Amino acid sequence: MKTRLAVVGAGIVGTACALKLQEEGYQVTLIDAASPGCGVTAAGMGHLVALDETDQELDLCLLSLRLWNGFFKEFPGTGEVSQCGTLWVAENEAQLLEAQHRAARMNTHHWQAEALSGQQVQKLEPALRPGLAGGVRVFGDSVVYPPQIAHFMAQLLVKRGGKLLTGKRVTDITTSSLMFEDGSKLNTDLIIVAAGLDVARLLPGVAVFGRKGHLAITDRYPGRLSHQIVSMDYGQAAVTADALAVAANVQPRASGQWLIGSCRQDQQTDTSIDTNALGAVLQSAMKLLPCLAEMQIIRAWAGMRPASPDGRPIIGPHPEIPGVWLAAGHEGLGVTTAMATASLLADQIAGRPCAIDHQHYLPERLFPSLNLKYA
Ligand SMILES: Cc1cc2nc3c(=O)[nH]c(=O)nc-3n(C[C@H](O)[C@H](O)[C@H](O)COP(=O)(O)OP(=O)(O)OC[C@H]3O[C@@H](n4cnc5c(N)ncnc54)[C@H](O)[C@@H]3O)c2cc1C
Repeated sequence: MKTRLAVVGAGIVGTACALKLQEEGYQVTLIDAASPGCGVTAAGMGHLVALDETDQELDLCLLSLRLWNGFFKEFPGTGEVSQCGTLWVAENEAQLLEAQHRAARMNTHHWQAEALSGQQVQKLEPALRPGLAGGVRVFGDSVVYPPQIAHFMAQLLVKRGGKLLTGKRVTDITTSSLMFEDGSKLNTDLIIVAAGLDVARLLPGVAVFGRKGHLAITDRYPGRLSHQIVSMDYGQAAVTADALAVAANVQPRASGQWLIGSCRQDQQTDTSIDTNALGAVLQSAMKLLPCLAEMQIIRAWAGMRPASPDGRPIIGPHPEIPGVWLAAGHEGLGVTTAMATASLLADQIAGRPCAIDHQHYLPERLFPSLNLKYA
């Protein structure tokens, strides 16, 4: 008989894990309090991007991006994928130097990138303001529509014999069972918890918290932008007194719309629109792409990135509850790194060596009482 495995949460992370573990031969039940892809997966940008703040981050992104490429080859057109690449824009000499380092780093990792002069940047994207210092073009990055992928993966799981339970909120997790809000219970052999922000409530001790981001989307302007444009400030932007960091990030959607981000704000408890934060996001984007001032914004919203205390995702066994595994805390990279998360979990559950060093992501680092030492 097959081993039973339940996945709590059908966001991009949970659905990727569910499908991967089904491929490994488990009898998978995927559970969501609402429906697949309706959590923060529906609120983000869907940029599949190689970020390189640390070597570990780059390794995780590249493992995932390569797995995503395989997925899109197998299921062409899923998730409105467009391999538009990323154009990182440098506004001054210091950023240009960092852009050149980024190009070198990516190429060393066999992820094609080229450093560009200001003129080359302008030629690639004429909508950018003149006078930029330069940038770096990363060829293999893509843009997707994440909720559609989560939905597709959940349906595929069912087609292949898995179970999908929607509208079922888990309230309690033990070694071999889940309790639901409606009083019912599910017995299982293994559990993967991928419940986004709710992980912290379900498993006290796993300190996932929300990091708020605002986005806005324009009407359709096809053909005016070819790459995802990101300021070299991204990840480096100064944090203001109200814990807000903003860096321009503009994405061409398949529909011809421009999706405009992004910012990060801590100490926020809900997803209501903060006009100051939204205004700062729009201003930073307009500074790079002045034509935005003439374009129609048709919707704006905010979402909460599920963040971990040290900024790294939490992937591996719960250190205190046998049989319970975690896939959480992916912050602003959960879409990008969902496939790598599934791969690392599958390898750990099977007791195989992982494709990359998985130690940085083990949940036990968040449990100081275990007295373990981590880099
Ligand atoms: C503004 C913004 C921009 C972003 N841009 C990008 C980007 O460009 N690229 C990128 O890679 N990432 C991006 N992200 C981050 C990305 O969206 C998240 O990291 C990712 O979606 C997290 O997925 P998840 O599956 O862990 O969580 P979720 O999508 O929130 O899924 C969790 C699921 O669990 C279910 N659930 C919760 N509690 C329970 C329970 N008790 N019982 C049963 N089910 C439950 C929920 O209904 C939900 O469907 C962005 C995020 C934001 C907010």
